[in-house]
Amino acid sequence: MGKEQKCYMCSKVATSREHVPPLCLFPENKDTKGIDFRKNLITVPSCDLHNSKKSTDDEFLMLSLSGLIKSNPIGTFHQLTKGNRALRRKNKDFIEKEILRNHRYGKIPSTNGKFRIVSIGNPNIERLLKCLKHIAYGLFRHEFDRKFVGEIRVIVEFIEYNDENRQTLKKFLKRRFELEEILNLGVKGANPEVFFYEFHKPDNYGLIGLRTVFYGAAEAYFSFIDENSKEPFNLGMKLIEGGTHTIIQLGEEEFEFNKICDNKK
Ligand SMILES: [Zn+2]
Repeated sequence: MGKEQKCYMCSKVATSREHVPPLCLFPENKDTKGIDFRKNLITVPSCDLHNSKKSTDDEFLMLSLSGLIKSNPIGTFHQLTKGNRALRRKNKDFIEKEILRNHRYGKIPSTNGKFRIVSIGNPNIERLLKCLKHIAYGLFRHEFDRKFVGEIRVIVEFIEYNDENRQTLKKFLKRRFELEEILNLGVKGANPEVFFYEFHKPDNYGLIGLRTVFYGAAEAYFSFIDENSKEPFNLGMKLIEGGTHTIIQLGEEEFEFNKICDNKK
């Protein structure tokens, strides 16, 4: 063993390796009849506290992401195999308590003209964001070979936010990743049907962007605000947060924040 390694999230000595994203998101060979969705998985050094396996967060994340209606067939398949096995080990109220509040079942039309039973409810967003942030820390550690110190912000594409600004921000970030070529470090992930990601190199302000995609559809965007980032690290964001009417141009498109309503002053 070489010199002792530090945890990807804190300053403690690492006691194990954490899969990023968690191992249980990737289908097992016994379910896929030999198709390997666990090629070259990423691991980073972790302390006990920040190992998701020990907190059951990994299971929570697997059930939350693979169960999304818009997930690709791999996600749905994973939900029906490993996801259902995990649920069978739980109490009946596990979904209600841990995954979706106000949980109920509903029917949606499926492509073959039949119906599909789906779960409807309010996702446990707080816990989801915490899990996604851990993944962001882990990917950063893997990509840049150091622990990230600073603030990470997350926008989850598959959550419908109540405020219009965040909805606009989602579209803006998606477009930004599509258009950006110079800063883009390339799409990575050896099992893209399950998970892939792309980092943006630090921009003029020291901000680093990250896009992650699970099961071909569930996207989340992150910005890493390094503790040494120069102020104003992002003038546009400051204006938006301050409630100022702001229009940001990107390519040919304009994204408008804090729209002024006609019926109000
Ligand atoms: Zn730690």
